Amino acid sequence: MTDDPKSLDNSKFLIRQLIMEDVGSEGQKRLEAAKVLVVGLGGLGGAAAMYLARAGVGRITMLDSDVVEPGNLNRQLLFTPCSVGKRKAEVALGKILEIGMQHEVRSVDLHLMEQNAASIVKDFDLVLDCLDNFPSRLALAKAAWREGVGLVHAACRGFEGRLSYQVAGATPCLVCLLGEHPLQTTPVPILGAVAGTMAALQATEAIKALLGLPSPLAGGLLMADLRAMTFDTIRIGRRPACPLCGAVQE
Ligand SMILES: [Zn+2]
Repeated sequence: MTDDPKSLDNSKFLIRQLIMEDVGSEGQKRLEAAKVLVVGLGGLGGAAAMYLARAGVGRITMLDSDVVEPGNLNRQLLFTPCSVGKRKAEVALGKILEIGMQHEVRSVDLHLMEQNAASIVKDFDLVLDCLDNFPSRLALAKAAWREGVGLVHAACRGFEGRLSYQVAGATPCLVCLLGEHPLQTTPVPILGAVAGTMAALQATEAIKALLGLPSPLAGGLLMADLRAMTFDTIRIGRRPACPLCGAVQE
């Protein structure tokens, strides 16, 4: 007999995760209590949000101000041709709710910029930077740093991906990694499977952070080259004159 989907509680969904030594019921309670913000619902954010939802993260908010375009569909797993022309935030909310976990999911149709970033990030435990442009990335990173909220940053291009975790007040910040005025080239070439790989890694890093597990990416940078199938992690140096974190003592 098949269970009525509405009668399934999270523990039935999560059985294979709950038996992990690093999760267990205590870890799961941490995930259920967590408030996570996913900024950008493209190839990174959509897949990362799905993994967070399926891990039972209790309160997920997704933010994007774009409309689905045909050129998004090679990598943006939340969307299909029927989504073209619709608001990403609205379609994403429906898709994440379909997963059926008993938790709070919200979506916000808003463009993040310097003027509103602090008020957006301040109530969260962790933020995922799944954006595709540097002005918004830097506005998000600065706000998260100043509000004391951890930031898991991911980016991809072609066969390559980058992943890093900035712990406010403890590690070098994203400005140290990217500089204040990084060069933006568009459109960014990207293979969908590469974006999905980086999204899965980003969600893994976020879940580890929420569980309180250590990571070499706290203050480190993963450089993935999926053409060569190499994964290298380097330490990020703090820029002494960094306007955001330069005054922090190691
Ligand atoms: Zn810095």
